[in-house]
Amino acid sequence: MTDLHRYHRQMLLPGIGETGQRRIRAAHVLVVGCGALGTAIADGLARAGVGTLTIVDRDFVEITNLQRQVLFDETDVASGLPKAEAARRKLARINHEVVVHAHVADFNHRNAARLAAGAEVIVDGLDNFETRYLLNDLAVRDGRPYVYGGAVATTGLSMTVLPWPGAGAGAGTGAGRGGAAWGASESTPCLRCVFPEAPPPGSSPTCDTAGVLGPAVTMVAAHQVAQTLKLLVGRVDAVDRGLLSLDVWTNVVQRFDVSGARNPDCECCGARTFAYLDGRAGSGATTLCGREAVQITPAADHRLDLAGIAAQLAAHGTFTVNEFLVRGVLRDERGGSGAPVELTVFPDGRAIVKGITDVDAARAVYARYVGA
Ligand SMILES: [Zn+2]
Repeated sequence: MTDLHRYHRQMLLPGIGETGQRRIRAAHVLVVGCGALGTAIADGLARAGVGTLTIVDRDFVEITNLQRQVLFDETDVASGLPKAEAARRKLARINHEVVVHAHVADFNHRNAARLAAGAEVIVDGLDNFETRYLLNDLAVRDGRPYVYGGAVATTGLSMTVLPWPGAGAGAGTGAGRGGAAWGASESTPCLRCVFPEAPPPGSSPTCDTAGVLGPAVTMVAAHQVAQTLKLLVGRVDAVDRGLLSLDVWTNVVQRFDVSGARNPDCECCGARTFAYLDGRAGSGATTLCGREAVQITPAADHRLDLAGIAAQLAAHGTFTVNEFLVRGVLRDERGGSGAPVELTVFPDGRAIVKGITDVDAARAVYARYVGA
């Protein structure tokens, strides 16, 4: 019996074997976001024996999370534990051999490089495009694989980014880092080649406005874990280079060939400018002095459908709408002092989150209820 005995069934697979298992044990993976996707991803990676996991999430466990966030239970809700810490404790009981670095933090351009240090694969458990573009910047800049995933309602998407090892700072450093190595012919488009811009605020559903079915998330997370394990054992050839799209309600599963989607003019992987990582792109957020409020300013001006946003928010409180704004109190949100949180959204996408002074907390409220 070897020290790897618990992974016996996984090592039986010709694509893994004992050599692959030792690579998995030596690996370090970053999981950003520890909600429905992130818990299922971290669970899968820890059980598979990934040696080191860094998990980043800024939220606390709530009762409405338990329907789909597989690492949490009622005790975590009662304890009011942060998700990253609750996940670390649960993962330690699942596989004590895994070193888990849990960070209760908003993943942003200021801390991205530090939190990602040492991770050879970046896995996406996020709920917003702005932070995804930040992960994409990080991956392309450093030549690290990035495994995108997203799920809302009954649908999900997943795509693995193997950055183009072209000229430029940091290029090609992904090749040889950890188990995975790839050349230009095996590289893929980046996330911004496929989705150049984030959808306008309020235009796309979020899990808080449209709901989410657990199995849709689980399927996306399973796909992400599978691609990550293939990368860790060096089987880049087996990685899915397409965009997976699924709907567990209509039973439609599609794979889109995105091999021709690489855009030489892409700001990220073409021009190698990393505006999200540099903090030049993305929404702005400023505390409004003396008002216990934060103003969120989207990166670009929009013309929002205020009536549509009011309809989405109706399930979360009493909202009023006129031609200038949508305003109401979010029933399930409390500010730092326990005060109710009032959300006001303007037609250009700007919003004021009142009752909160923490900029990152206000951005999280915006991402959940308006969407970005
Ligand atoms: Zn690109």
